[in-house]
Amino acid sequence: MIIILLGPPGAGKGTQAKTLSQRLKIVHISTGDILREAIKTNTSLGQEAAKYVERGELVPDNLVTRMARERLSCDDTKEGFILDGFPRNLAQAESLDEFFNSNGLLDYSVIYLETSENTIIKRLTGRRICKSCQAVYHLINAPSNKQGVCDACGGELYQRPDDSEATIKNRLQVYERLTAPVVAYYSHKGKLLHISADNEADKVIAGILKFLKVNDSCEISL
Ligand code: ADP
Ligand code: ZN
Repeated sequence: MIIILLGPPGAGKGTQAKTLSQRLKIVHISTGDILREAIKTNTSLGQEAAKYVERGELVPDNLVTRMARERLSCDDTKEGFILDGFPRNLAQAESLDEFFNSNGLLDYSVIYLETSENTIIKRLTGRRICKSCQAVYHLINAPSNKQGVCDACGGELYQRPDDSEATIKNRLQVYERLTAPVVAYYSHKGKLLHISADNEADKVIAGILKFLKVNDSCEISL
């Protein structure tokens, strides 16, 4: 099963992708996570990408597309995958189509997490992430038990530098200008599920699973 998650920053793509990945037993591929890891470990890709990510701009297509293709060619994608953060503009969508065609991947679903600007700002400014295990918290919606400390591993929580209010504004503009046309692109292909992501995460997941025709309940009939 191949799933592409679209939606503005703060729509909850990462949160939904994580749950879907566990439920459907397919890998979660986030270009944002891969880029942050490359920046942290200071690879040549990371050095090149850092200045764009800090400003909330898109990393150039040639870098990201090569990175995505490489990741999609790993063995763990055989059963399927969830793409989170890619494609982010029309050129990337076309290049993904090419990759799908040349690999005989004809069947995929695109899920668009529709979100209001109000929700986005609240979610992003309150988001905190564990430095060690990358678990995601929110100051109000999903606080850790002890402030600043990860429940899962005891790691230190931090705010993504691009989650500052000024950078969020830029990311939203970039989204409107470059990523929103990708939503229309898949809509024309008749591939799109719209789902309101202003709702709680559980409701959103239930809607997605219903669309994918995956049974959400576990009944034992003994
Ligand atoms: P969000 O969706 O919340 O903005 P991501 O973690 O998906 O966060 O992305 C963070 C940053 O990484 C983006 O602002 C951008 O700089 C870079 N990035 C991620 N995916 C792509 C992509 N497909 N193309 C270009 N840049 C990307
Ligand atoms: Zn942790």
